[in-house]
Amino acid sequence: MEPPHPCLPAGRPSFSPDGERGRVKGMKFLADRMLGKLAKELRMLGYDTLYYRGENTYPLIKLAREEGRVILTRNSKLIPRRPEDRIVRVMEDKPALQLRELIQKKVISLNEENLFSRCLLCNMFLDEISREEAEGKVPDFIFYQLKAFSRCPQCLRIYWQGSHQDHMKRKVEELFG
Ligand SMILES: [Zn+2]
Repeated sequence: MEPPHPCLPAGRPSFSPDGERGRVKGMKFLADRMLGKLAKELRMLGYDTLYYRGENTYPLIKLAREEGRVILTRNSKLIPRRPEDRIVRVMEDKPALQLRELIQKKVISLNEENLFSRCLLCNMFLDEISREEAEGKVPDFIFYQLKAFSRCPQCLRIYWQGSHQDHMKRKVEELFG
């Protein structure tokens, strides 16, 4: 076991699944305005991740404190001011490499059960829905090919385990080595 990232409290695992599908305990994130793509990727992995679009850092820090979130930022001026502040500065400029950076820094790890458990847009846990409920709301060729569908309770977007997810899963597994 390698030591946890220095921004994380000692001895605390980066996450601990509680046995319920899609639930990740412990590690919640708050990505700042520069890190929208990273926020979506973290949601894809199942991490509870909020995305803060504002420019002022005070509301960002306040929200992170209130909800016990780790701030992810590109801003070098954002530094912890209280013992409970946890801030991970993302050094990588290219969105494609930022997830890799968090993996290398041991900030995140892979729990396959949590993959694709959240809406990429809303951060909500997806509800499994019946095939009948998906009929007419997904392309016909998808509907006839697949059995399992899920839906975001907030934006009502429908997700399915198709070739795109299989492709993403392989990419993610590669990233985590
Ligand atoms: Zn949604």
